[in-house]
Amino acid sequence: MTQLEACTRLLDPWLAHTVRIVDITDEIADVATYHLEFVDPDIGKSFSFRAGQFNMLYLPGVGEAAISISSDPAQRGTLDHTVRIAGNVTGELARAGDGATFGLRGPFGSAWPIEEALGGDVVIVTGGIGLAPLRPAIYELLNRKDEFGELSLLYGARNPFGMLYTSEYDDWGRRGLSVTTTVDRASPGWDGNVGVVPQLLDRMPLSDPANTTVMCCGPEVMMWYTARSALGRGIPPERIWISLERNMNCAIGLCGHCQFGPTFVCKDGPVLRYDRVASLLRVEGF
Ligand SMILES: Cc1cc2nc3c(=O)[nH]c(=O)nc-3n(C[C@H](O)[C@H](O)[C@H](O)COP(=O)(O)OP(=O)(O)OC[C@H]3O[C@@H](n4cnc5c(N)ncnc54)[C@H](O)[C@@H]3O)c2cc1C
Repeated sequence: MTQLEACTRLLDPWLAHTVRIVDITDEIADVATYHLEFVDPDIGKSFSFRAGQFNMLYLPGVGEAAISISSDPAQRGTLDHTVRIAGNVTGELARAGDGATFGLRGPFGSAWPIEEALGGDVVIVTGGIGLAPLRPAIYELLNRKDEFGELSLLYGARNPFGMLYTSEYDDWGRRGLSVTTTVDRASPGWDGNVGVVPQLLDRMPLSDPANTTVMCCGPEVMMWYTARSALGRGIPPERIWISLERNMNCAIGLCGHCQFGPTFVCKDGPVLRYDRVASLLRVEGF
């Protein structure tokens, strides 16, 4: 297949492309990162995505699940998905080993507002597996560090064993990301922060709130409290962005499964400006 044909095939949103698991990293209990490559190298070369987007992973005979891309958008050839075992598709994936193949279609959805944040400070606020869709943004911000002000990550987990990508924090720190963690419940040996993650935002120093962008992903109640804290700190509503998860089927705005008022999470989101969806945030998905 030529690269032009590969590009054309990638434009068909219904077409799943075969990917192979090249490696698996066990992250925390029930969560692993799958490092994938396209079986057709031309598709691999043509595939690109923006930080915050997701793919539909298709396990034949089982079904499809929306999973965020968790690797560096600048990296070509392989891509990562960090997956928690939740049900049928993710359970089947957890039983697959290196070399297993399955289908992938995408990328879908909106991206983190990297360009809108240019020149200002960025605070990433996230909890648990919510760090997965923000890891591509961290890579991109660090790759373009000179174009931004201060970069901070506030990350919360239920306990010290619930944090993703811990082996990368030192490198992120060296490259200019201030990493602050907290846990809901400490365990022996933990001497860091204890408390919920929005409290970190309540008390972190902000040099220029009017020029600070918040990118947030986690449980909806956590995003709600984070937005409330950000607004209280003087961060403008249009600079607060969240990523929403809703059950979805088609991923292209046709089936209505992920409809959220007038918004389709699959095509208008998952990354949305908080002030545009705040009134709907407490409406349960189905
Ligand atoms: C945009 C987007 C990005 C996402 N990114 C990620 C990501 O990066 N990583 C990730 O891990 N997840 C992610 N998700 C969530 C993921 O899509 C869901 O967890 C998805 O439902 C998993 O599919 P599944 O077939 O494994 O689970 P399903 O079988 O659909 O099960 C989903 C839920 O139903 C419950 N359930 C399943 N079977 C039963 C049963 N028999 N009885 C009672 N309850 C049951 C499960 O406990 C679970 O809570 C994302 C979702 C969206 C919308």
